[in-house]
Amino acid sequence: MTMSETRPPRVMGPGHDTFWDHCNKGELQLQRCQDCGHRPWPVVEICEECGSEKLAFEPVSGRGKLASWCSFHQPYYGEAMPAPYDTIVVELEEGPYFVSNPHGFANADATGGMAVKVAFIACKDENGAYNLPVFERA
Ligand SMILES: [Zn+2]
Repeated sequence: MTMSETRPPRVMGPGHDTFWDHCNKGELQLQRCQDCGHRPWPVVEICEECGSEKLAFEPVSGRGKLASWCSFHQPYYGEAMPAPYDTIVVELEEGPYFVSNPHGFANADATGGMAVKVAFIACKDENGAYNLPVFERA
């Protein structure tokens, strides 16, 4: 039996809902500006580079490099995210930096520039069950 991990509430709403819908299908899709090609992340309503409102979700490869990592020892989210827990920053192939959690490795084993790829784990929050994108060794 696979247990869902309980997590702090996600940000929901326009754009965010679309992002999570793709995750629930096992796809990592991020916005791309249809005017200048910029890939904003997190979700925005207008392009940070050119001000365009023509933003569309497009698949990304899910591959990237480990850019940074840290472990939190303060339980900021109470029982929804007990401390300590590991957090990583992945530089995606397409450019954006993506904050996530390591999967199948611990921060103690992390090295800068390590190749990683996205995986999805079953989670739930007050909005229901969903797939959370995490990263494992590529
Ligand atoms: Zn743009």
